[in-house]
Amino acid sequence: MKKRVNLTFPKRAINIPLTYRLAKDFNIAANIIRAQVAPNKVGKMVLELSGDIDQLEEAMDWMRSQDIEVSLHGREIVIDDTTCVDCGVCTGVCPTEALTLDPKTFQLNFLRSRCVVCEQCIAACPVNAISINL
Ligand code: SF4
Ligand code: SF4
Repeated sequence: MKKRVNLTFPKRAINIPLTYRLAKDFNIAANIIRAQVAPNKVGKMVLELSGDIDQLEEAMDWMRSQDIEVSLHGREIVIDDTTCVDCGVCTGVCPTEALTLDPKTFQLNFLRSRCVVCEQCIAACPVNAISINL
């Protein structure tokens, strides 16, 4: 099964080779969705973990034992590209440039790694193409 988790690292845990340990010790594949990690600072990461349910629980317990805060990641922006008409209105309200129009094709691009789930784009879309996945 898959689980998305938010991780917050204390300074001392920044250098743990997390994806390697998850794969080697728990047989879990970890896909980094977002990461803000700088040396000697608190780091934040969103990971998608894939593996056996029991091993996922064990891996989360292990991360917590390393003083990493682990919480399940809930909210995600979803864009229905069959409804979207590429009008670009949402790009004007997005504070992080997660939403942009491709200058060549004029089609909407969504860069999930930049999205902070502020939800401003949801109300802005005239055709209700944007929703939130809880
Ligand atoms: S939720 Fe906020 S940050 Fe994410 S795409 Fe919409 S406007 Fe941009
Ligand atoms: S506002 Fe809605 S229809 Fe317009 S580009 Fe954004 S998602 Fe597509």
